[in-house]
This record gives sequence, structure tokens and C-alpha cells, in this order.
Amino acid sequence: MGAAKHLAPDPAPTSMKVDVAIVGAGFAGMYMLYRARQAGFTARVFERGGGVGGTWYWNRYPGARCDVPSLEYSYQFSDELQQEWEWSEKYATQPEILRYAEHVADRFDLRRDISFNTTVISLQWHNDAWLVTTTAANDASPHREHTTTARFVVLGTGCLSSANVPRFPDDHLFTGGTYHTGAWPHEGVDFSGRRVAVIGTGSSGIQSIPLIAEQAAHLTVMQRTPAYSIPARNQQLAPEYVASIKANYAEFRRKNSLTRAALGGDTPTGPHGASEVNEVERRAALEERWQKGGLLFLGAFNDALTNPESNRLIADFVRDKIRSTVRNPDTARKLTPDDIIGCKRLCVDTEYYETFNRPNVSLIDLREQPIERFTANGVVVRSATGSRSSEEHEFDAIVFATGFDAMTGAISKISITGRNGTMLHDAWSAGPVNYLGLSVHGFPNLFTITGPGSPSVLTNMIVSIQHHVEWIADCITWLKDHRMSTIEADADAQQRWVRHVNTVAGMTLYQSCSSWYLGANVPAKPRIFMPLPGFPAYAQTCADVARDGYRGFAVSHH
Ligand code: NAP
Repeated sequence: MGAAKHLAPDPAPTSMKVDVAIVGAGFAGMYMLYRARQAGFTARVFERGGGVGGTWYWNRYPGARCDVPSLEYSYQFSDELQQEWEWSEKYATQPEILRYAEHVADRFDLRRDISFNTTVISLQWHNDAWLVTTTAANDASPHREHTTTARFVVLGTGCLSSANVPRFPDDHLFTGGTYHTGAWPHEGVDFSGRRVAVIGTGSSGIQSIPLIAEQAAHLTVMQRTPAYSIPARNQQLAPEYVASIKANYAEFRRKNSLTRAALGGDTPTGPHGASEVNEVERRAALEERWQKGGLLFLGAFNDALTNPESNRLIADFVRDKIRSTVRNPDTARKLTPDDIIGCKRLCVDTEYYETFNRPNVSLIDLREQPIERFTANGVVVRSATGSRSSEEHEFDAIVFATGFDAMTGAISKISITGRNGTMLHDAWSAGPVNYLGLSVHGFPNLFTITGPGSPSVLTNMIVSIQHHVEWIADCITWLKDHRMSTIEADADAQQRWVRHVNTVAGMTLYQSCSSWYLGANVPAKPRIFMPLPGFPAYAQTCADVARDGYRGFAVSHH
């Protein structure tokens, strides 16, 4: 899967004791390092990859780009940075975002405190400090293990960083190339003249399918659940528009942070429910958002994810669009979703549905024709004729666009032992529990950036990351100033928080489908809605908790 290079870790510094150990050098880890330094702490980042950028380091598949506008999907902690950086497109490509991450690393001299090609394999709370055991990336040889002592650990491991690669009978027999979108070979893949299958039609599949179709001899899309996708309407950024944002960047950021998803403050959610207006008004409002493109489509009405009837009306609009775009009626039928729109994360595309009008693209609906097994030459699925027979499809390459073990996957790969030998694996056996999405009872001085139980993946991630990093930096500074040594979530506060997250999620339609928000895409993963809807209320709660002397946390003195 992909090209996993076997690399030696970069040498760790001579002093193996730091105030703050940070796991991951994506946008979360980089900013945490910056803030920790600013607050006068020593810090070390451990990063599995060979460079900064996290998700943007790994997801190099064709068509990978962000579906949050570039002017929003960027740091705001340094006005110089946000003034000097020039985004070229409304939605930045993966290479451009990676260049930005690298620029930030250089500009703030971050690399000297980052150990690349280094995997954190365990964290152990011992004598009021964390023992951080690391090894060379992709290498579990015990003799290469290295231990660092840290007072605090911050997990910036990412919500969508642990690839979900489903297993199929005889999948080891396939002799062609296999690739996961989230671990794409750095040298790229040339599909010219090849017969390619893409399994999965979430955001990654939907972005890569049109580009792979342009290159491959033939592309077969294997779809289990059809997705709702909205056109991106990507474009070059006009210099006058960029200048107008930059002239008032702070206000632009402030407006965005006041929305539920911490994005799109310039395009507020409509004042009505979709079933409160007549059909002409409804279609006009939806058409306007459809023409504008992007994730804010769902904000045409204020009850898309709370009122099933409104949701159906909105979904009908998109279903009509699919039918009027895809020429083959049977293909259009298969591509048309019948579930709640927005229950799974909305996708944003460029020419996705149009791609199915190409002569070299075909679609297999895995609900009608499930995969039976792999062979040396391809994949055997149940026959389309409805009989009990099977049919083999031959491929030179198979792309797994099958997503991630979301939100908890990367954390659960680390063996984490807290106070009194409690394992995080056990504490989370029935699903993740924590306080504020930031801290777990039994695991002192350990913080999760955009952890489950926080708005995280329901928002512009950079805004949530920034919010958490600043909260954590303020918290550990407060501990230092008050001569406190440890902080840990109370069991009661944690229980109340878990209930609160469930209650808020329960008021929405999010639990009506098998999404990765619920962990439903990974076999045997406990089903629990992990993110918390609503950024502004959450941010207010975090501020109140800090102002009240870290209410709900137990702190101890030196
Ligand atoms: P995903 O949304 O989880 O989609 C995975 C796809 O693979 C789904 O269609 C899923 O079908 C299918 N699948 C999974 N297991 C399968 C199996 N055993 N057999 C057949 N099909 C299977 O993953 P993703 O597309 O990588 O996106 C994940 C998230 O990353 C997105 O929701 C988004 O938050 C983020 N992302 C963002 C961007 C962007 O900014 N533009 C781009 C890519 C990703 P089911 O639906 O039936 O499970």
C-alpha cells in the first residue's frame, strides 16, 4: 500500500527531557510547538512522516485539495504570515497547502525541535511525568527505541490520519498495484493506459475519480454508498478579492468563528427552514448555493440537519441535479443517494458526476454486486444479471479511497498508560470518553488537539486546531504560574461532558447513517457519535472553564 519508506529517525537532541512532547507535525503539532516555545517551555515534536504537514504530507492522490476556502484554511496567529502568503486558488491543492506548511516551519524555525521519521509507540505516566517511547517510523525493533521524559504530552495526531484498508477474501493474490489515497506514493502514480478500479466514493474518491478517469485506459468505480456531492466552482483568486480580505483579515476571521462550523461567515445560514418556504423560493435559494458551490450549500436553510422533511426537500434538489447530469439512467440511479444529506460529510467535487458520461468509466454498485474475492488479475463481484453467478473484472491497479479510522485511530495505535496503570485502550473500549474533547480522566497532563467530544471535524479544522492549541498553551502556562504540577479531568465532569455531547448530537440527524463520525466505517469499532456540533458554544464553554480556574479538572501542587 503506497510507498512506505524505511527511514532512520532524525537524531533526537542530546537532552531527552522536555516540558512538552508533541505527537505529530501537522498543523496542530506545528502550532503547538510555536505556542509552547512562546510560553517559555521546551518542546519536542515527534513525527512519523519525513516532513511537516500531516494530512497534507500523506494525501498526495490526484485531485487532493481542501474543500474549505484557502483564505480560511490557514493560520491566523501571525498577521505577517497571513499578509505575506499568497494563495492562488479558492480551494488550494495539496501541493500548495504542503508548501504553506513548509513555509510556516521555516519561517518560525520549527524544524530544529521536530524529530521526523519517528513514531511514538508508547506513552507511560511515571513519577509525575510522561515517558515517551519512540522508534524509527515503520520499525518496531526494540533496540532502536528511544525514551524522552516530558511533563506534558499533546497529541496532534490528526482526526483522519490512520488509513482504513478493508480486507477482502484473497486480496493478497492481486498482482497489480494497490494504493490508499491517504498513503499515496510521493513519486506519484502514472495510470496511463491502465485499467484502474477505485473502491470508495467519499471525498477522496470523488476528488480523484475525475482525474484518474482522464488518464486511465478504463476506470471502474466501485461504490458501496452513493455520496452527495456539491460542485466546488473552484477558481483562481482575484487579487482584488484577496486584497479586500487581507485589508480586514481579523474581522473576516472573527465572523467565521461565530458560525457553527467556524467557516463561511460571509455567507450566513439562511433564516428559514426548508419546509417553511414555498417550492419556488426553496429552489431559488438552493440553486443560488449550488451555483456558488461548496460546503455552504447545506446552509441555505437553518434546519437541514435537524428536520427530516426539510432534509428530504434539500436532498431531492441534489438528486434531481444528479439525474440531469448523468446521461445513462441506470448509472444515474446508482449514483443517487437515498439517505439524509449531510449525515455523512458532504463532498465537494469538480466534474464528478460528469465523469460518468465518459466512455472509459463504469460504475459497479457494490450493494447490488458485492465484492466476492480478489484474484491475481482483479476483483470478482456478484453478476449484474441478478443470477447467482459471478463476474471477474480485470485491473492493473486498485485504488482504495476507503477512508480512515477516524478521530481515535491514530491515538489507539499508541500504547498509552496513565495513572495507576490505566490503559487508554481500556478506558475507551466502549468508545472515546473525555472532558471538553481535550483531556481524559486517569491521564494527567495529556491533551488531545481536536479530540473526539470537540467540534473538530464538523468545523474548519484549522480554526479548531488553533483554538485548542491556545487553550492548552494557556492551561499549562496557568499551571506554571500557579506552581501546579498536574492537571487531570474529573471523572464526574467527564461523565457530564460525554452526556452533553450525546445530547447535542441527539438533537440532529447525524446518527441516522453509518458514517465515520460514528465509527461505523471500521468493523468492530464502537458506534458513538464522536464530534460535538457547534463551535461558538463550545469555545465559550472552554473559555468559561479556564476563567473558573479550570472547573472540572483536578490540579495538584509541586
Ligand atoms: P470516507 O468519506 O470514509 O469514504 C470512504 C469510502 O469508501 C466510502 O464511500 C465507503 O463506503 C467506502 N468504503 C469503505 N469501506 C469499504 C468497503 N469495505 N467496501 C467498499 N467500500 C468501502 O473517506 P475519504 O473519502 O477518505 O474522506 C474522509 C474524510 O476526509 C472526508 O469526509 C473529509 O472530512 C476528509 N477529506 C476532505 C477532503 C477535502 O477537503 N476536500 C478530501 C478528502 C478527505 P460507505 O459510505 O458505504 O462506508
